[in-house]
Amino acid sequence: AKYVYTFGAGKAEGKADMKNLLGGKGANLAEMNLIGVPVPPGFTITTEVCTMYNEQGQKSTFELIKPEVEAAVAMVEELTETKFGDKENPCLVSVRSGARASMPGMMDTVLNLGMNEDAVEGISKKSGNPRFAWDSYRRFVQMYGDVVMEMKPASKEEIDPFEEIIEELKEEKDIQLDTEFTTEDLKELVVRFKAAVKKETGKDFPVDPWEQLWGAVAAVFNSWNNPRAILYRRLEQIPDEWGTAVNVQAMVFGNMGSNSGTGVAFTRDAATGEDIFNGEYLIDAQGEDVVAGIRTPQQITLEGSKRWAVLQGISEEDRAAKYPSLEEAMPEMYKQLNDTQQKLEDHYSDMQDLEFTIQEGKLWLLQTRNGKRTGAAMVKIAVDMLEEGRIDEKTALSRIDPNKLDELLHPVFETEAIKSANVLTKGLPASPGAATGQIVFFADEASKYPASILIRVETSPEDLEGMHIAKGILTARGGMTSHAAVVARGMGKCCVSGAGMVKINYKTRIMTIEGKEFREGDWVSLNGTTGEVYEGKVATMDPDLSGDFGKVMDWADKFTRMKVRTNADTPNDAKVAREFGAEGIGLCRTEHMFFEGERIKAMREMILAKTEEKRRKALDKLLPYQREDFEGILEAMAGFGVTIRLLDPPLHEFVPHEEENQKEMADEMGISVEEVKTLVEDLHEFNPMLGHRGCRLGNTYPEITEMQARAIIEAAVNLKQKGVDARPEIMVPLIGTVKELKLQADIIHTTAKKVFEEKGAECEYMVGTMIEIPRAAVTADQVAEVAEFFSFGTNDLTQMTFGYSRDDAGKFLPIYIEKGILKNDPFQVLDQEGVGQVVRMGVEKGRSVKPGLKVGICGEHGGEPSSVMFCDSVGMDYVSCSPYRVPIARVAAAQANT
Ligand code: ADP
Ligand code: MG
Ligand code: MG
Repeated sequence: AKYVYTFGAGKAEGKADMKNLLGGKGANLAEMNLIGVPVPPGFTITTEVCTMYNEQGQKSTFELIKPEVEAAVAMVEELTETKFGDKENPCLVSVRSGARASMPGMMDTVLNLGMNEDAVEGISKKSGNPRFAWDSYRRFVQMYGDVVMEMKPASKEEIDPFEEIIEELKEEKDIQLDTEFTTEDLKELVVRFKAAVKKETGKDFPVDPWEQLWGAVAAVFNSWNNPRAILYRRLEQIPDEWGTAVNVQAMVFGNMGSNSGTGVAFTRDAATGEDIFNGEYLIDAQGEDVVAGIRTPQQITLEGSKRWAVLQGISEEDRAAKYPSLEEAMPEMYKQLNDTQQKLEDHYSDMQDLEFTIQEGKLWLLQTRNGKRTGAAMVKIAVDMLEEGRIDEKTALSRIDPNKLDELLHPVFETEAIKSANVLTKGLPASPGAATGQIVFFADEASKYPASILIRVETSPEDLEGMHIAKGILTARGGMTSHAAVVARGMGKCCVSGAGMVKINYKTRIMTIEGKEFREGDWVSLNGTTGEVYEGKVATMDPDLSGDFGKVMDWADKFTRMKVRTNADTPNDAKVAREFGAEGIGLCRTEHMFFEGERIKAMREMILAKTEEKRRKALDKLLPYQREDFEGILEAMAGFGVTIRLLDPPLHEFVPHEEENQKEMADEMGISVEEVKTLVEDLHEFNPMLGHRGCRLGNTYPEITEMQARAIIEAAVNLKQKGVDARPEIMVPLIGTVKELKLQADIIHTTAKKVFEEKGAECEYMVGTMIEIPRAAVTADQVAEVAEFFSFGTNDLTQMTFGYSRDDAGKFLPIYIEKGILKNDPFQVLDQEGVGQVVRMGVEKGRSVKPGLKVGICGEHGGEPSSVMFCDSVGMDYVSCSPYRVPIARVAAAQANT
């Protein structure tokens, strides 16, 4: 096997489609070499080596790859005319992680590796710039100390140990900025850094470049399993088995003075999708300085710079003098960069996110990848690229991440509410959307309030989990490409970054904006689209769905096989879902209708009735309500099937449990409170989810089914007489044996016949069942003799196949996921291996006796993309999901079929 792939000087052993083996970064570094983009030479150690490292350990793995690594280093030395550890011409490299899927900032990078007392002299002489040499050295000790030797802050309130030393020295020297350090100061920093390392770790800082290199390679492999990388993979559903590659690459230096710099750029706008080249850079800076949010980055294009200045309230004179764009500061470099970004976008036919460094007037590219983007940008870029003729419809459809459409469907601030809202300050519009919540200052406290806004000076990868929980993120420092901004956009979370007026005191937990104090728990609101920060709560409203969104839906319709229905219990839900493109209702729960107003009284009366006669009397009161509800829903979904589920929950859910309500009930029914109490106690069950519910109700009290069937059929006939195309599908829940269904179906058919006779008019209807008990799936061939359709109720089916109580699983599921017992919450993502096989069996057995049997799914899984794909693969006719998931399911269904 080959473990190491080299690249450099226009040649490469790898290429773009080798991401699985080389990771995204490595594959694209190779590809850029091949298409003539300037990239410093280097090599990639494969992801397979990472897997080997994790399985077999460091020693044998490193022995195996050593010869190839040594040969690759020799190649880099030759191309750069340098030597590892050399006194005259030292070779310095970066060691970078790079997984298949991009995981920005999740794993560690070490720059300037190879630095030691000899090398620093060599660099110093060669560059004629001792200060630069020593600055590079101290950065190396700092990064290596952090990443490889694990020098971390002692607690979250403490700052980084190296930053602490820097602060100390600044105080001693009475200076403010890093740039004011003299060469002697930087030397002193190196000495103090190394002493701190020795003191903290008991180890000497390594001087041998080879020792440094192997240490860094091991650290990158280890970083695959650091907690934040593990969490990121869980959130993004990246398999743990993939592993990371390691890229070792000759250093280029953006910190060699005023004709050097470094930056990050996007070929299109990652927030809106507009075709505008944009990005940020810093002069005389290295690598992570731009993303770290330590200095305020400048804009690459003149136009972008002007727009930025307006947002920041900086005058045009100040902007041009203090924060010029790259276009103004280095016109020739800008031209080359602009050509390169166009070349890369043309080559990849997708929006690119790139990293570059300018070393003394020479441009180098250090990374390119398909840029992360907001849901809105994702849609716009796919539509634009199709219309520009760069990609075809299928490719455009494949560029849509169904889950990300969610962002487009979510609320924005109410126009009126926002007018009267008080703007506290403005930052950068880092990630669009609206958020309102209570202030927290620490990521691990984000769950303190149901809706929190995480406020930080800047965020770091450690804050990931809290960022995920918070409704929005506000940072005082950092630009559009800062950690907070990039991560928030990836999550589709509202974020305002670089709000310079915001002062934060972590110790007192107080934020100050222009003298006004805000404490933890106070309400603020953020507009990630404009960068505005508001005082207090601001009401939100539903978004406007633009034309591009409609185009995506058209592609989905073109390629889909399955239909998408919605779960809706009210005419309004049905209407919303229809607007989102739902074709029918897959699940209408009748019980929700019983809770409103007068109905609950009649319902309780029915439940507490001691005789059939009394029960029928109460049911007679419920009938008109039900009929009216069904008329509304069937009309809202006219022309499409509406699956109505008969009463399902255990009856105790409807009866009063508080003394006060019990009294009211007693008065209503003319019985004593004691009697009511006894009746309520009688309904108590030890395990209600496995108790007297579903068709077990209809089979013990057939008159309930009779009433519901009558209400549905009467509603349909009434509508039909009005010329409305009502198509009811009556669904019997929770059957385990065919007989349970048969008895219910008989009642429904008898009732229908009666109604038809009474009305002298008929309507079409179907009787089917929910498959949600494993036994029903196993005997689906028998069930299909009676059922006209199946709908898989995968919530209960998951509950009963796993034996996990849906209501109690919250206590152990997170731990199960953490321990790797389960990959996902099976109530969110259909467990294809287990529950999925039960579904498959049910479909196959059902269709074995009734080939055309209509089959669908209702429940949470019907709107979850991977589950939708599975439903397509077992040949379902439709999926059904909540109204706001309908567009997501439509795209997933189309992708499943292409
Ligand atoms: P991440 O995955 O966190 O982006 P990278 O490996 O891309 O980490 O590196 C972090 C920073 O260091 C980037 O800004 C990158 O451009 C810079 N960098 C990496 N390798 C080199 C190099 N050989 N020369 C100069 N800068 C580099
Ligand atoms: Mg990194
Ligand atoms: Mg990078």
